[in-house]
Parts: sequence; structure tokens; C-alpha cells
Amino acid sequence: MARDFQRCTRCVMDTTDPNIEFDENGVCNHCTSYLSRIDQFILPEKVRQKKLEETIFKMKAHGQGKPYDCVAGVSGGVDSTYMVYKATELGLRPLAVHLDNGWDSKIAVSNIERVLKKLGVDLYTHVINWEEFKDLQHAYFKASVVDIEVASDHAIMALVRNYTADRGLKYILGGTNYATEGIMPRSWVWTKNDLTNLKDIHRKFGSRKLKTYPTLGFLKLVYLRKIKGLTTFPFLNYIDYNREKAKQFLIENLGWEDYGGKHHESIFTKFYQAYILPRKFNIDKRKAHLSTMICSGQTTREKALKVLEEPLYDLKELQRDREYLLKKFGWSEQYFEDLMNLPVMQHTDYKTDLWLRRLLGSG
Ligand SMILES: [Zn+2]
Repeated sequence: MARDFQRCTRCVMDTTDPNIEFDENGVCNHCTSYLSRIDQFILPEKVRQKKLEETIFKMKAHGQGKPYDCVAGVSGGVDSTYMVYKATELGLRPLAVHLDNGWDSKIAVSNIERVLKKLGVDLYTHVINWEEFKDLQHAYFKASVVDIEVASDHAIMALVRNYTADRGLKYILGGTNYATEGIMPRSWVWTKNDLTNLKDIHRKFGSRKLKTYPTLGFLKLVYLRKIKGLTTFPFLNYIDYNREKAKQFLIENLGWEDYGGKHHESIFTKFYQAYILPRKFNIDKRKAHLSTMICSGQTTREKALKVLEEPLYDLKELQRDREYLLKKFGWSEQYFEDLMNLPVMQHTDYKTDLWLRRLLGSG
């Protein structure tokens, strides 16, 4: 049933999330829920500092006699780069792990290499065979589900965890940051560790075997966590993290180069967020990021609304990226249009291990 457009009076979430709910003051469930949990996310300075010190102590003890204390996944973006810098500043010896799925922008790769070299941090890069990855992404397009990025995100999640366990390590520095990314409607994303869903989509629409693609099923993830003690520490939540300031610091001190936009270290991610999501799924993820930032006091609703008025894509850039993408996939304009026009399907239209997750009460 069509619904009149309505925007939250406190944040900038609106009815483009079909499941959004408003109270009598026009305030939505997303910011209400986030603010009710904010005490868990954004801890008082003293508590935060103590937990950080304790965790670093544990990591260092664990790293005794080993070449590294912990593992950090790096994309070349601000969050993960700053995280590695800060870790070294606090005396940790992280091993950086990067996934090359064929879509890295040149700036992202040179950022990773330049900064890590300056910091003296080792880098392990895993390369997925491009034909294999292309086939999997293509399968997601054909499946016509919202979260095409699961193809990349699952692989990164799996790679970092598998590699950490294989190296006999157990601590992972996590780059999620509740001050900038706590709000995200369930209908806009899918669980990144639902290997059942990925495999079903791949079985139905893919044509190549997954050989170099890292996978991690839910049960193995539980095993790694509970038995092997694999721990992801949300590092950015425990330091004074402000993305703008962090970016400025990286540029001035570590030779990091700006590429504009959040999560635009990958050309595909950029095109997905700025073109595919808004056009096919009527989703503008900036609303979720900005709403979180309003709640955490990093921006105001007025400023956020101004940002939302700006176009997601510069037209010339869009044309350039679109051509690049089609050429890389080997698709014609018409074929891409056909994919974009497929009726939208739900992830739950395919097999999923959501039931298992609910049964075990975690995810
Ligand atoms: Zn709201």
C-alpha cells in the first residue's frame, strides 16, 4: 500500500524505509532506538579509557612471542586507516589484511601502501580471482536483492576471521563506529555472514565455482568465537573518533589522499550507493549515516537536510563510472538496464540461515 511521504522530526530518516514507525510527535523508531542504546555505544570517557587500556594489555600479552598482537582489516578508507595508525600509536603491532576484489580505486590502494609503510605495519592482501568474483556479483544482480554488497562484505568478514585464526591470533580490531553508523534500517541491508543466502543465490544464478572467494559459515563463526576465543574489539568506539578530524590528520601527517564520499574506496561501492540503491531500491544511505551523526551530536538536522539536497552523483562522474562498470562486467547498456529493471526480490525469497541465528540467539 502506498504511504504518504513522512520524515522524522528529530533525525532525517523517512518513509523510504517502508518499516519506519513514528510516534505522536513525528519521531521515528530509528533514532529513538539508537538513543535508547547510546549509553552502550558511547561510553563515558573514564569507562572507555579503562576498557581500552585493559584490552590493549590483553592483546599485547597474547602477542608475546608472536610477530603481531592483532589483525585489522583495511580498505584504504579513513576509518580503517586511522584505526591502524591509532593502534600503532598505542603500542600495538597490528597485521593489516586487505581484500582485493578487483574494484579498489587506485587512490585506495596507494593510500594503504603509503600509510602502512610509514607506520611500519605489514600488509597481507588476498586477491579473489576476478572472473569468480564478477560471476558472484552478477548472480546478486540477477537475484535482484537489495544487498549486492554482501558479495564483498562477506568475503572481507570471512578473510579477516579465517586469517586471524589461521595465524594463531585472536584479536581483531573492528572498524565499526557507532557515532557515525549506528542507524541502518533492516530493509536496506542483509546480514553479511549469511553464507546460506549467498550460496543459494550463487547456486541459482552463478556459473563458476567459488575457489578463491573466502567464506565463513555461521556455525564456524560461532566456533571461532566461542571455542577459539576470536574477539572483535570495536576499536573506534573506544577512542575519540571524529571522521573529519581523522581525515585531516591522515592527509597532513601520513600522506593519505582524499577521494571524497564515505565508502568510496571501491568504485563498485560508490556506484552501488550513489546509483543502484537510489534508482532501483529508492534508498539513500546518507540518510542513515546522517541520522546517526545527528543523534551522536556530530551534525545537526539542518545541516543534514542540506547535505541531502546535494545530488548523490556528479553527472560527469556518473557517466564515467557507469562506463567503467559496464566495461568491467562486459555488459551492454541494454543488459544493465534489464538487470536494473528486474522486479525487486527479498533476501528471504532465497534460502537463509536466519532461523539458526535466531535459535542460537546471536548473529
Ligand atoms: Zn528519527
